[in-house]
Amino acid sequence: MSIKNNLTHIKTTLPEHVTLVAVSKTKPVSDLMEAYEAGQRIFGENKIQEMAEKWEQMPKDIQWHMIGHVQTNKVKFMAPFVSLIHGVDSLKLLQEINKQAQKNNRIIDCLLQIYIAEEETKFGLDQEELASLLSSNEFKELKNIRIVGLMGMATFTDNKDQIKKEFLHLKSIFDSFAIHNPQFATLSMGMSGDYQLAIECGSTMVRIGSSIFGGRN
Ligand SMILES: *Cc1c(COP(=O)(O)O)cnc(C)c1O
Repeated sequence: MSIKNNLTHIKTTLPEHVTLVAVSKTKPVSDLMEAYEAGQRIFGENKIQEMAEKWEQMPKDIQWHMIGHVQTNKVKFMAPFVSLIHGVDSLKLLQEINKQAQKNNRIIDCLLQIYIAEEETKFGLDQEELASLLSSNEFKELKNIRIVGLMGMATFTDNKDQIKKEFLHLKSIFDSFAIHNPQFATLSMGMSGDYQLAIECGSTMVRIGSSIFGGRN
């Protein structure tokens, strides 16, 4: 199947309220252009430098999402153009994003990453850390970032019951904070292997790579 066919097929399966992020990490610009020509305007990358290079080469009506773990010292390279940062997991990182956003005269949208998996390797905050971050004075001083929701990654496993449990856990955290934060509208969860389940569990944004562009080496 071509990239265009893959995209068209996935889009027909997505409910209208779910946003598709085409995860194009490691793929050449020619592949991204094929998706662009098929109408895709939101792309997700996990390395800042790679994203910046693609941003320079591609049409300017694309929204670039940073979906990977962000190193504080690299925020400045994406601050001029990034449209959503998914994996924010510390006040220190938020402060740096705020600083760089200010320099670029922008407000940058962010999702806070919540730790829901059983694997030690995944990043993210737990529910308590999220609550204390959002209620801290340091956070309230940040005027050039906007937290628009949460992001999470389930354990890498074939056990659907476990994945479902983790997604529902994230959804319940999301709901409990969305009540007090009207701008909390985005719940980013679900990848190629589990996005249908994620949508059943309340996802509003799916990050799909290999099912669109094929496997990565
Ligand atoms: C690579 C990646 C994806 C996409 O994974 P696929 O299985 O190829 O769909 C989604 N989210 C994050 C955070 C990723 O790093």
